[in-house]
Amino acid sequence: MTFKELGVSEEIIKGLKEMGIEHPTKIQEAAIPVLTEGIVDFVGQAQTGTGKTAAFGLPLLAQIDPSNEEIQALILAPTRELGQQIARQIFKFTKYTDKVFTEAVYGGEKIDIQIARLNRPTQIVVATPGRLIDLIKRKAIDIRKIKTLILDEADEMLSMGFKKDLSTILEMTASKERNVWLFSATMPQELNEIINKYVNKNARRVA
Ligand code: AMP
Repeated sequence: MTFKELGVSEEIIKGLKEMGIEHPTKIQEAAIPVLTEGIVDFVGQAQTGTGKTAAFGLPLLAQIDPSNEEIQALILAPTRELGQQIARQIFKFTKYTDKVFTEAVYGGEKIDIQIARLNRPTQIVVATPGRLIDLIKRKAIDIRKIKTLILDEADEMLSMGFKKDLSTILEMTASKERNVWLFSATMPQELNEIINKYVNKNARRVA
């Protein structure tokens, strides 16, 4: 399979080539066509280093409206490092497309700096759960209108103690129009509880 056959645009394919990404990985082949339809929740079991970021990032970019300056998607990740890595990859994917603005927010950096950055047009926010809750409490971010909520390394977020924060975010964004795309290396019981409660029963599953 090629990225073209998976429905990825020529502009993005050009950016991927410069990153040395020419042939889709297994999770990309499985996820990209399903997520590009954009009508389902998704649960993907995938380890790190398998190309997960492009698996959700490319279909996500196809859905973002660059002319709308509001936050349209939220990506949750367990650590600052992963969050920054995701934001950097998305930036590279869009080198030859219309501008899409992504901000990464995480604990350990002055919150005022992040609040100022969020005041600029931002379409995609990558966040660690605790910092995001903090920003919501300060009314620095409004996530209620997002269309896509991506949970990356969901098992890691749970083992770091973010269950309550995740539930709050899932509840706050719940609507018929909002889809959840969840990726996890393992499926512990605690994660199944979250999935049963917040993810659509008809979610597509890829292992
Ligand atoms: P990820 O699993 O998304 O963290 O990606 C791990 C690394 O693999 C990153 O450096 C990506 O740029 C790279 N990568 C992602 N997809 C591909 C691909 N289809 N071919 C080669 N490298 C890739």
